[in-house]
Order: sequence, then C-alpha cells, then structure tokens
Amino acid sequence: MALTKKQTAELAKQVFEYAPAPESIDHVKIQPRYGLFIGGRMVEGHSKKRFPTINPATEAKLAEVVEADEVDVDHAVKAADKAFETWARLAPSQRARYLFRISRLIQERSRELAVVETMDGGKPIKESRDVDIPLAAAHFFYYAGWADKLEWAFPNRKPKPIGVAGQVIPWNFPLLMLAWKIAPALAAGNTVVLKPAETTPLSAMVFAEICMQAELPPGVVNILTGAGKTGSLVVTHPDVKKVAFTGSTEVGKLIQRAIAGTGKRLTLELGGKAANIVFEDAPLDQAVEGIINGIYFNQGHVCCAGSRLLVQESIAEPLLEKLKRRLSTLRLGDPLDKNTDIGAINSKAQLERIQGLVESGIEEGAELYQPDCVLPERGFWFPPTLFTNVSQSYRIAREEIFGPVLSVLTFRTPNEAVEKANNTPYGLSAGVWTDKGSRILWMAERMRAGVVWANTFNRFDPTSPFGGYKESGFGREGGVHGLLPYLELN
Ligand code: NDP
Repeated sequence: MALTKKQTAELAKQVFEYAPAPESIDHVKIQPRYGLFIGGRMVEGHSKKRFPTINPATEAKLAEVVEADEVDVDHAVKAADKAFETWARLAPSQRARYLFRISRLIQERSRELAVVETMDGGKPIKESRDVDIPLAAAHFFYYAGWADKLEWAFPNRKPKPIGVAGQVIPWNFPLLMLAWKIAPALAAGNTVVLKPAETTPLSAMVFAEICMQAELPPGVVNILTGAGKTGSLVVTHPDVKKVAFTGSTEVGKLIQRAIAGTGKRLTLELGGKAANIVFEDAPLDQAVEGIINGIYFNQGHVCCAGSRLLVQESIAEPLLEKLKRRLSTLRLGDPLDKNTDIGAINSKAQLERIQGLVESGIEEGAELYQPDCVLPERGFWFPPTLFTNVSQSYRIAREEIFGPVLSVLTFRTPNEAVEKANNTPYGLSAGVWTDKGSRILWMAERMRAGVVWANTFNRFDPTSPFGGYKESGFGREGGVHGLLPYLELN
C-alpha cells in the first residue's frame, strides 16, 4: 500500500532508537610499548623519550611510542639507503609480489586494523572498516600492478627510481595516507622512511608487523614515530631525495622553505575549503546525503571536505529544512559502535581549534544550528554544526575548520557560483549537484580544484589522481600520475 504524503512526512520526522552494537575488540592486541621500525626490525631506538597515544573517545592511554631523535632518523635513512641498492635493482615483478602480499595481509588483518584505527583516531568503525582499510589495501593492490609496467606507463622513457623518500602523514586517515605514500614509492623502486602523526601512530605500527610478515627486504620501509621535530628531521636529512607531505598548509610551507635549494623532490597535499554547489534542478534528497557525507564524514577531518555549501537561492529554504532534519538523525557517540555516524574529535588541540573558529562565526554574525545531541562526558566531542547567514569574509567561510562544521552561502547564477567557489586560497576539491550534464562540464571546467565530483562527494579510488591547486599544494597521488613524483624519466 502506497503511503500518503502526510504519512511519508511523519515517517521522515521519526528518529529511530538503535540498540548498542559495539565492535568486539577481543581480537586486537595493542602492545603497551612500541619501538621504531628500522632495517626490518622493531628496535628500541636511541631516543629515550616516549609519549602516550590515547583513545580520543575515552581519553584512556592505549600505548607508549618513541619520540625518534636525530640519531634514530639517521639510522632509518641509512637503512633505507642501503636497501635501495638492492630494491631498485630487484626484478619489478618481484617488487610487485611484495606489494600484492602486503595488500593481501591488510585484507586479512582488516578487522584488527579497523579497530586500531578507530580506537587511536576516534573515527566511526563503519568508516574505518568500510572506507579506510579497504582503500588502503586497494592502493597497494593497484600499485603492485604498475611495478612491472612502468615502461608502458611512460612510453619511450626510461623510468628510474629516485632513492630514499621521506614521508610525513597526518592523523585524519592514518593507514590510508600511509598507503598513498608507501605504495607508489615502492612500486617505482624507492625505499621509504615514514613518520605517522603524533596522535595516530598505532596502525603504522601494525603495518610494520605486516612488512615483517610479508618478508619485505629489511630497510625498504622504515617507520619512525615522533612529533613535528621528528618529521622535520626526516624531510631535511641530506640523504632523503624525495619528500612527500600531507598536512596543514602552514607546515607544508615550512617544509618547502626548509628544503629549498637542496634539489630534493617535493609533493605537498595540504588543506582545503571546498565548495559543494547545489543547483535548483538537483535531486534534493540525494544532494542532502551528499552534503552530509561531504562535511560530517570522519567528523569533517577531511582535507577535501565540502565545508562550504553553495546553494541556489531559489531552493535554499527547502534544502536547508531537509538538511536540518537529516542532521538531527545523525548518531554521535562511541566510535566502536557500528551505528555511529559521528565519532570523537581526534585530539584536544583540534577540538579547541574547532571551538575557536565556531565562536568566531557566532561573533561575526552567522546563525548557528546544532541538533539536540548529548555529548559523552569523557573524550573530545563536537556536535554536527551548520551556519547560515554566512558572508564570504567570515573566518568560517575562509579558513579550514577541519571539524563537523558547515558554512552555508547562497548564489543566484552559475557565474556567481563559480566566483564564490573559487574565492578561496585553496583548491583541492569541489562538488556540483545538478540534473544537467552540460552544466556539470561547464562548472568543472571553471573550478580551480584538483577534484570535481558530480552528484556525489568524497569518492576515492586508487586509479584516480588526487591533489590540489594554490595553497592546497602540488603533485598528484593516485593513478599513473601518482608514480611520477617517485621516478626520474630519462
Ligand atoms: P600538521 O600539519 O602539523 O601535521 C601533519 C604532520 O606533519 C604530522 O605528522 C606532524 O607531526 C608533522 N609535522 C608537524 N610539524 C612539522 C615540521 N615542521 N616538519 C615536518 N613535519 C611536521 O597538522 P596538525 O595536526 O597541527 O593540524 C592542524 C591543522 O592542519 C588542522 O586543523 C587542519 O586544518 C590541518 N590539517 C590538514 C590535513 C590535510 O590532510 N590537509 C591533515 C591534518 C591537518 P605531529 O603529528 O607530531 O604534529
């Protein structure tokens, strides 16, 4: 029996109660202390300094890791340099076999990795289980396929690896960013020294075990935990020939300055302030889901998050009504619960940054909307938030908040949409929602953004290059393009 309009509206308003559905953590063994992964082994490290890594949802300490110092960095780079001599000369099909093996092991240990990622970083288990870990495995699988086909990827050239790559990654997608960095580097015949972020080192430690399980030759992958200082020592080490960084624009600029004139290769994947643009002919219900996914996925800790919603004035009212209703159905809480949509904010420092920017939005005159939402007492939490009445000059429309906060602006014509979307120092991504294919192409051509999604948002695939314009950085990761920064093309 078909529902009447009134019944459908009533149903849409209903909020369903969910019984707790926590993912079991019995199968996961987090060690109380971790060393450094250098030369194919876990070693104690020269540095005696250690720091705790905590679960941001409970503030409970999970483990202690080493803050690697200059001597540790030097050991790791030397190990990588030594391994380069044989790894670069290994038959490419052999390199591929190791990468396939790593991909398989990530799949085999995916439940464990998902739990570790969620406990260490605060992201909902359904995201680490269904997005982060499968995509990390897919990345190794994809680049394994390229390892013995480099001469087909770059015809009439003689692709050669560069040497030791120094790689520094952030805390929002720890294992996935590790895969984005390590897989193309290894496929191209380079060796690596990687530093995970201070707040999320644990999945990299499990990855070190995976390298040992895969019997990867010693020194091909080295992993050093530590803070910003360790990262800076890695990228400035004289024997590091290629630097790959993902993180804030501020640190990206510091790195660029620090290595200027050294001849090191550099790729930077930095911040963003993406526009998600909804035209009046868009399917509104799908657009609402895309907007939600664009900004509330991973608590908005996403460099390409659709943090500015540009909505055509004629549909602003119905769209915002639907959006607010949908916001009130998002479930915030225990990240290990399989029904959770919004997990914990990654760290206290990040929570304070979000709170500061939200306060600036209120002070500057924007109108705040937050659904009724009970925040757990312990841990770091921020409710899904939406700002209307936002002017382009407000900080919440200009700066990367990196939290579950959406700023809504309106436009009347496609030209105005383009102008507002591009009115940012960043240029990482954008989204366009419309029924017309021609308009999608027209918009995509004019958008200064590395990725433009059409009638979807936050879709990732290892075959597709990803990277920015302007202050969002340079260089591409993913696809054939992702091999280029790791190769000399003679
Ligand atoms: P950072 O840019 O400081 O961190 C990214 C990585 O760089 C971490 O591993 C960090 O180590 C390391 N690092 C810090 N300083 C240096 C340095 N001088 N040389 C080399 N490596 C360094 O990001 P934050 O964690 O401070 O986050 C701040 C803001 O940055 C966020 O609010 C967000 O707006 C943005 N951000 C953007 C990301 C993106 O993907 N575009 C990712 C993360 C943050 P450590 O963790 O120990 O500090």
